[in-house]
Amino acid sequence: MTIANPAVAHAARSDAGLQAAIEQHGNRIFDRIADARAPLFTARGVYGRLMDWAMKDEAFKTRLFRFVDVLPCLGSNAEIVRHLQEYLGDAAIELSPLLKGGLAVSGLAAPIVGPAVRANIGSLARQFIAGGDTKELCATVRKLHAGGFAATVDLLGELVVTDAEAAHYRQRNLEALDALAAAVQKMGPPCASDIGPDGVSLPRVNLSVKISALHAHINTTAPDESLAALKERFRPILRRASETGALINFDMESYALKNFMLRLFMELLDEQEFARRPDMGIALQAYLRDGPEDLDRLIAWARRRERPITVRLVKGAYWDYETILARQRNWPVPVWARKPESDLAFERMSVRLLEHADLVRPAFGTHNVRSIAHAIAETEHRGFDPRTIEFQMLFGMADPIKEALRAEGWRVREYCPAGELLPGMAYFVRRLLENTSNEGFLKHTFADHAGRTRLLADPAMLVAKAGASAGARSPAPVRFANEPPLDFSLPEVQQGFARALGRVRGEIGRDHLPCIDGRPVRTAAFIDSVNPARPAEIIGRAGCATSAEADAAVAAARRAAAEWSRTPAETRASILDTAAGLMRERRLDLAALEVLEAGKPWAEADADVTEAIDFCVFYAREMRRLGGFHPNEQVPGESSVTHYLPRGVAVVIAPWNFPLAILCGMTAAALVTGNTVIMKPAEQTPVIAARLFEILREAGVPAGALHFLPGRGEEAGARLVEHPLVDLIAFTGSREVGLRIAETAGQTVQGQTGLKKVICEMGGKNALIIDSDADLDEAVPGAVYSAFGFAGQKCSALSRLIVLEGIRERLMERLIGCAEGFTVDAPEKPRARMGPVIDGEAHRRILATIEEARRTATLAWQGALPDTGAEGGFFVPPTIFTDAPRDSRIAREEIFGPVLTVLAAGDIGGAIALANDSGFALTGGIYSRSPANIERVREELAAGNVYINRPITGAIVGRHPFGGYKLSGGGTKAGGADYLRHFMIPRSIAENLMRRGFAPDVED
Ligand SMILES: Cc1cc2nc3c(=O)[nH]c(=O)nc-3n(C[C@H](O)[C@H](O)[C@H](O)COP(=O)(O)OP(=O)(O)OC[C@H]3O[C@@H](n4cnc5c(N)ncnc54)[C@H](O)[C@@H]3O)c2cc1C
Repeated sequence: MTIANPAVAHAARSDAGLQAAIEQHGNRIFDRIADARAPLFTARGVYGRLMDWAMKDEAFKTRLFRFVDVLPCLGSNAEIVRHLQEYLGDAAIELSPLLKGGLAVSGLAAPIVGPAVRANIGSLARQFIAGGDTKELCATVRKLHAGGFAATVDLLGELVVTDAEAAHYRQRNLEALDALAAAVQKMGPPCASDIGPDGVSLPRVNLSVKISALHAHINTTAPDESLAALKERFRPILRRASETGALINFDMESYALKNFMLRLFMELLDEQEFARRPDMGIALQAYLRDGPEDLDRLIAWARRRERPITVRLVKGAYWDYETILARQRNWPVPVWARKPESDLAFERMSVRLLEHADLVRPAFGTHNVRSIAHAIAETEHRGFDPRTIEFQMLFGMADPIKEALRAEGWRVREYCPAGELLPGMAYFVRRLLENTSNEGFLKHTFADHAGRTRLLADPAMLVAKAGASAGARSPAPVRFANEPPLDFSLPEVQQGFARALGRVRGEIGRDHLPCIDGRPVRTAAFIDSVNPARPAEIIGRAGCATSAEADAAVAAARRAAAEWSRTPAETRASILDTAAGLMRERRLDLAALEVLEAGKPWAEADADVTEAIDFCVFYAREMRRLGGFHPNEQVPGESSVTHYLPRGVAVVIAPWNFPLAILCGMTAAALVTGNTVIMKPAEQTPVIAARLFEILREAGVPAGALHFLPGRGEEAGARLVEHPLVDLIAFTGSREVGLRIAETAGQTVQGQTGLKKVICEMGGKNALIIDSDADLDEAVPGAVYSAFGFAGQKCSALSRLIVLEGIRERLMERLIGCAEGFTVDAPEKPRARMGPVIDGEAHRRILATIEEARRTATLAWQGALPDTGAEGGFFVPPTIFTDAPRDSRIAREEIFGPVLTVLAAGDIGGAIALANDSGFALTGGIYSRSPANIERVREELAAGNVYINRPITGAIVGRHPFGGYKLSGGGTKAGGADYLRHFMIPRSIAENLMRRGFAPDVED
């Protein structure tokens, strides 16, 4: 055979020579496809026109594709017509008068319009689907075979949220292997695309698998466990493939799973049983900056193991997703920023593959004639048998190119998705986006009719011309940038966090005394802070301040108030920036401490630290904006300005559930606005509070401006609130305590010189509506996370899930299946998605609430608890109730634990009314794909933070100013532009500038 060995050198060739060869091959393909038009671009009738409009008008495209996305789950003709009108009937959309007229009256003819729309879009989608069931699929494979094309089969249904769905996906794969094996038996000799370089048939059954669909709860933070589970599920597929002589290919999915998938691939193939069989392949994505490195790693592994594999090189299907996600999280964007960079990487990786073609069979998954011609030129240049490589293309796309390649004697494999329309629709929408993408080769070729010179241009030249995309690895912060969360899918992050836990554990158990005027105060009593997952473990002891220390702290704060208020705003702001920097340096240790002291799982603890950093940076920036003098309306002869004064002495009373972020946010806001502050942390989390106090002092807050006062709420806290010399109380916590504080602070006592300002954030009984057309693949995990994240101990946590009647049963099944994967365990273990509740009191209270609810409502599901043995731990099982009476405790009162009540509503109006039937108004939201229903929620849902098509917890500083109204809070919005003003008093100064009829700057 003429296959290469890397040791075999081939003659060097100039860039110009390569380009000439590419143009020659490219032009040959173009000549062959000159008269052809890809089906999508020739679709007749109204749908062809729709695609035309979609390519011309981005707004219309979005609406059309969103409609296509929701269509399969619409249960009636009336629903189809309603959505059609909502998406496309808008006058703002420039449609043809005919279509617009048609949409306007379509409601009258729903029984005709509905089925017609479904049939038409269905048939459009089916262009890309090789078969609705195994029989159809096998017929397609047979037809392809007759035309000289090989196939790889992909079973649609990639998103699973329950283990039952994952098991079903595996079963379908096993059945497909059997059916395909039987089908190829009957097909006679292999077709030309099935014959490899040595003239021997390649595996004729080729199955592409989406690994994530085999496991509903992959946890990349604890990869070992998920890997073990996936291997277990995957082995039967590999065994069946060995028996049937099939090749199994791992499709590549999102970047978050990439390292995990590579590890799974290599570890499985390292197993004795699979060291030689079955044939295996994996897709690698050239749009990833890591692409070449991963390919080298894979090649080196294959060489060591002498394990032949197939690599399907693709550019990558999730470019927008990866880019948006990374930008949202302020992470380095993992994909190339410019299209020619991906094209260039594809070519470089193609060469690398060819250099190792003796061991790694190259498969090029592309429809781009330039990328194809490059692979051909490089193959020929090496003198390889053309059968060394194969081209892979998607079913229903670029058929003329496939034909051209076959005619030129190249092996071509079609990627054949099979399955029902509902899961197929997500795949279809991806294909529509790809076909209409402005960056896409197919659109340039078949719709825009771009010239060959442009289509065959060397990407290296285009990249050189444009310059490398700047800063994509470390995006330049745009104004305020949130601190990026840790990416726990990275092994080095996992190891770093585990080390931090060890380090912090070595430092626990110390005493943390109140500190007034920079001096520690010895107290008679102490409060033990314990690890809620192991109550015997003392994280630290806090000196318990009494009324006497509270009085001393107020006096000290009062003494320092004038000087701190005169400190320039810029100085105060830069102290916060310094504090943010210190927290950034110590972020792992701070988060690890939260794991131990507050029982937060890793990612939740990390989020609390990043939020604290964000508060410092954001409020520093806001104070720079608000400092100085702001002109009022001006007239000639007068200067009028407003500026902001601090209120004086501020008391900050913080909760334990965000032990760093909330304490830090309220303290930072009070300090930066020029108030002196007494920090009273929650009894359960004084150790993390002590760390914050040290950081703020180290950053430069003077001793008199900040005092640390751990103690009991009933004593030290109460004294601070009623103290006549306190001007401001910033409180976050329960409604009960919040209302008491508001009441006490409202009473003027002897010696008081001003009105007390209360900034008060309390609880919620938060509702999430699941509309009948919601995308349950997203809604279900979103609801589970909102309800059970940090054991439901967030004031924003979901406690009432309101479901539209029609989908109730299906939702419950998926909700429970998804909740099963929400692992409860000691939070220091990376597998834990949920830890314990905060203390024994909460533990007893929540369990009692569950017991009581069992008598009035139906217990739909309860999760399992970890076996903690003698260590105990305040674990409460995540619990879901249905059929709760509307006036029952679980339907009305805040539980602050992992208890979810599912309620049903007949229609959207009823759902909103149910959601609003609460004394609280904190967070709330909806999952829906109806623009009209989303609009109603925007307008009518009573919540300070309304979330649409996303979880209802996890507010981010600057992006989601946070806080509620009604009995949830005073509408002060932490992390928003209005927040700091509440900590200050505006003061206006007007000066008459006229002296004897003369004033400066009089304009005509
Ligand atoms: C047989 C087959 C199997 C496939 N399997 C997988 C798979 O397992 N995993 C997977 O992720 N994808 C897979 N794909 C999808 C594939 O990644 C896309 O179809 C492919 O990227 C389209 O590329 P192209 O070369 O055909 O077209 P082109 O039009 O040349 O390239 C389009 C691609 O360029 C990239 N791109 C677009 N805009 C930019 C930009 N601004 N900056 C940088 N890059 C950009 C994107 O990757 C986009 O998809 C497969 C494709 C085929 C044909």
